[in-house]
Parts: sequence; C-alpha cells; structure tokens
Amino acid sequence: MIDPFGRHISYLRVSVTDRCDFRCVYCMSEDMTFLPKAEILSLEELDRLCSAFVGMGVRKLRLTGGEPLVRRGIMQLFRSLSRHLKTGDLQELTLTTNGSQLAKHAEELAACGVKRVNVSIDTLNPEKFAEITRWGRLPQVLEGIEAATAAGLKVKINAVALRGVNDDELSEMVAWCGKHGHDMTIIEVMPMGDIGGEQRLDQYLPLSMVRSRLKRDWTLEEIDYRTGGPARYVRVKETGQKLGFITPLTHNFCESCNRVRLTCTGTLFMCLGQDDAADLRAPLRASESDEALRQAIREAISRKPKGHDFVIDRDHTGPAVTRHMSVTGG
Ligand code: SAM
Ligand code: SF4
Repeated sequence: MIDPFGRHISYLRVSVTDRCDFRCVYCMSEDMTFLPKAEILSLEELDRLCSAFVGMGVRKLRLTGGEPLVRRGIMQLFRSLSRHLKTGDLQELTLTTNGSQLAKHAEELAACGVKRVNVSIDTLNPEKFAEITRWGRLPQVLEGIEAATAAGLKVKINAVALRGVNDDELSEMVAWCGKHGHDMTIIEVMPMGDIGGEQRLDQYLPLSMVRSRLKRDWTLEEIDYRTGGPARYVRVKETGQKLGFITPLTHNFCESCNRVRLTCTGTLFMCLGQDDAADLRAPLRASESDEALRQAIREAISRKPKGHDFVIDRDHTGPAVTRHMSVTGG
C-alpha cells in the first residue's frame, strides 16, 4: 500500500477496546462515556480485518487501546494473529499496555511470538502514579514489567512529559531504565479529546525543554536509529539505552509516517491528528469475501493526509480532534 505522498503503509495500530482500568488525567476524564458494546467488533472480526491488512502488506501490528489487556478473550486474538508470524507475512506483533494485567499474560504473549512490549509509566513515585492514573497502582505495574522481562520480552517505557508533575523526575527515570535495561520514550502531550477540568496548556511541556534539562545529567549521543515512527532517538552514553522523543507539537514527523490506525468499531484513521476516517465495518459485514473490504482499505489509503496540525497555545487550549487517544489507540 502506497499513499499519495509515496509513503509505504506497513504498520497497523489497532485499538481493541476504548475501555481502560486507569483514568490517566491527560487521556480521559474520570467519568468517561465508553462505546456501547454492540458497536464493538468481535475478536473474530478484528482478526479478519487485521489479516486483510497483513495480506495487503502490513508487516507490523500493534494492539493498543484503551487498555488492550482488559478486553475479554484478548489472548485469543494474539494466538490467532500469531499465525502470520509463523508464515513470515508479519514481522512483528506487539502491544502498548499500562501494565496492570501484564503479570497475568506475559508468558502467553511471549509464547505467541511477541518479542517487545511498550509499558506506559509517567512516574516512579507511587503516590504521584496514583494521582496521574487516578485508578492505577504502581506496584502492580512494576510486577507486570518484571514478569514480562522474566518471560523474555523486551520492555520499552513510555512516559508522557507533564509540566509541574513529572518534569523533575524524568532524569531519575532515565537512570531506572538504564539499570533495568529498558529503552525509554518521552512523549509530548497531544490535544486529543476533552479531559474534563484539566487544562492542556497547564500539562504541556515542550520536549526541547526536557531534552536540555536531561543533558545536564546525561550524555545524549545522536544515533541513526529510525523506526519509521514519530520518535527521534539518542543513546544515553552512561547507560547504553536508547531514549526516544516524540514531539508532535515541536517537530513535524509526518513525512516518514508509515502507519494507519484502526478503532475497535472498525473505523480506520489515516492520521492520528485529523478527523477524516473510513468505515471498514460495513464492507467487512457486507460479505464473507474480503474484496469489498480490500477496496475500502485501498480507497482509504488514497486519502491519507500529508500531516497533522496540532497546536497548543493560549489561542488553542481545546482539543485539536474531539476523539480521545484511547479511541484511536496511542
Ligand atoms: N492503555 C495503554 C497505555 O496506557 O499504554 C495503551 C493506550 S494509551 C492511549 C497509549 C499511549 O498514549 C500511552 O503511553 C499514553 O501515555 C499515551 N497518551 C494518552 N493520551 C495522550 C495524550 N493526550 N497525549 C500524549 N500521549 C497520550
Ligand atoms: Fe488508560 Fe492508557 Fe489512557 Fe491511561 S493512557 S487512561 S492507561 S488508555
């Protein structure tokens, strides 16, 4: 699949549920309204959709959410998708998780051929963790990471930089990741979805500032490591681990974008930061053959936009897109 700007689309991210057992302050409001269950694709339908994408050239599949591991029966989907790893059609099957259920599933994920997992932790302070996630508990997540490591999974830590919340702690987190052998990615807050009382402008911390602060403690060496994704990586000389910066607001990374995102209702978003979307559920359900579905996917890819236009400043404090990150899948 090649889009109008010559970009090869080889990476599909799938939000398998919009629900979550946490309520992170930058992601959701505490009283979130979730999609009615009747609208959600079954695991069999998700498998069929993902498999159609694999048949059309997708080589990397990431399950995310909401929290993917709270979806009932989710391991069935991992098990069935792992057949594409065995044939070599798929190069990587992976997930992004808050880690709360990871201890339970780590071994089976590894048995399904999952090699790496991204776990989101914004602080190593248990009280602060409970404040940021509202319903999360840090020890449970750390246990999940230990279980994943013991099962042979490589763990990458995702942390959202939050002004006045964890900015004083990111250097310590770099040290912790170094000690435990985790790569780390720091993410800029993106203006997605209404999050209740909290103000984006208060949370927003440009990563240029994070980076210069980290440079006081660490030697950050430029490396030529690219995943086709939005992160720009450096190596932390003292620990040897990679450190990525995802800067949608301060650096436009769209020119190398290789991905599209599918929601749990079968809506395909060709860009995280734009509203245009294609409904794949109707063609999926219209026929047992995949021809109409493949046609709808081709048509959607032909509309992939050049890029997003996220802005957070005094004139733009509301969401740039109304849906939450948990719908499109972060
Ligand atoms: N629940 C899983 C988790 O937390 O890893 C997967 C879904 S979550 C939406 C994926 C990633 O998006 C997490 O690392 C989270 O911190 C990040 N995220 C959520 N809302 C965000 C926002 N408004 N701006 C930037 N990152 C956000
Ligand atoms: Fe849940 Fe992940 Fe959003 Fe936190 S960031 S509320 S864990 S979906």
